[in-house]
Parts: sequence; C-alpha cells; structure tokens
Amino acid sequence: MDVSNPSLAVECPRCGLLTPRFLDLCRNDGYKLWPSSYVASAAFKAWRDADPARAAASRYDMEIPHHVELVIDYDAKAHELGIHMPPPSKWPFVICAGALFLSLAAIPFSAAVRITLAVIGGVIFLVGVVGWVLVEDVKMFPADETGGEVHS
Ligand SMILES: [Zn+2]
Repeated sequence: MDVSNPSLAVECPRCGLLTPRFLDLCRNDGYKLWPSSYVASAAFKAWRDADPARAAASRYDMEIPHHVELVIDYDAKAHELGIHMPPPSKWPFVICAGALFLSLAAIPFSAAVRITLAVIGGVIFLVGVVGWVLVEDVKMFPADETGGEVHS
C-alpha cells in the first residue's frame, strides 16, 4: 500500500474507470479491489493518518473535500451589470402579516371574530403599505423636479 500516493481515486484494473481507492469493490463493475472491507478500511486509516491534510477525507470520496466558502456581493455585481436592485425593505413582511389576518377573517367564524380579525389585519396591512410606499420609498428616492419614476 502506497501511503505517499495522495490520490483517493484509482483506475479499476478491470473496467478502467475511476473508483474510490479504499472501497473493497469497484463502484462501477463490482471488481474486488481489496481482499475484504476490513483490509480496505485499515489501509484507508493508514493513508489518512499519514498526512493531517487528509483528515476530512472519507473512504467514499474520490477526492479530499475542500470547504471553500464563496462570498458573492450580489449588489456590487448587479451594479456592474447595470441591473437596478430594489432597496432592501422589511415592509413586505408587515404587509404579509396583515394579509394573513385578513385571510383568517375569510373563515366563517362568528361575526365578531371575523370583524376583529379584519380590523387587525387591515390596520397591519395599511401600516405596511404606508411604511413601504409613502415613508421608505420617498426616503430612498426623494422626488426630483421631473417627478418621474426613473430611478438611476
Ligand atoms: Zn471496475
């Protein structure tokens, strides 16, 4: 067993396709690569412990997993591509909460319950709409002389 070989995959001697090196059977055609699963496992442990960089590897992998976190700034990317992104807003959640109560009011409960639900839902819904359209949008896009809807 060659511990220095960093590869986790091996070409099967029978089918020639790549298969995990430390599984006793070839994944493609079942060719017996190791005398038993125990021998394969022992060989894998010896191989893994030979290098700390192999600690995250599994017998079932074809390569050592690398956990690379890709952080993408979508706002910057959109700006680069000339795409106008709407400003982030929490108000749609408020509007949805109001819509939830309004739809609960559509269930045939007794009249008093339905009216109460409708009033609660209507108030939350209106607060959301006013906050989003009249307060936040005006703050984000102060009206200019043309008064147009073009946000550039
Ligand atoms: Zn094979």
